[in-house]
Amino acid sequence: MKTGTCPKCDSHEIFSGDRVALKKGPFGSNSIPIGLTSIAALDNFVCGECGYVESYVSDTQKLIEIARKWEKVGSEDIEEKAD
Ligand SMILES: [Zn+2]
Repeated sequence: MKTGTCPKCDSHEIFSGDRVALKKGPFGSNSIPIGLTSIAALDNFVCGECGYVESYVSDTQKLIEIARKWEKVGSEDIEEKAD
């Protein structure tokens, strides 16, 4: 999607919302909660043909935080994460 092609319909009508001012706004309108006091802003990519949406966390510090706090999918042993 970031390269300009929709993974669902192969359209090249891809639009990026990474400069939308509200993404880090007071209501966290375009963000996901990482923990009790932390949110990560999202960059959205929308296909103008089929409407498919892909979202990315662009803040690398937030990605590190997620890796530290969230449970990894597909891992057999569930390890305790120290906060
Ligand atoms: Zn599409």
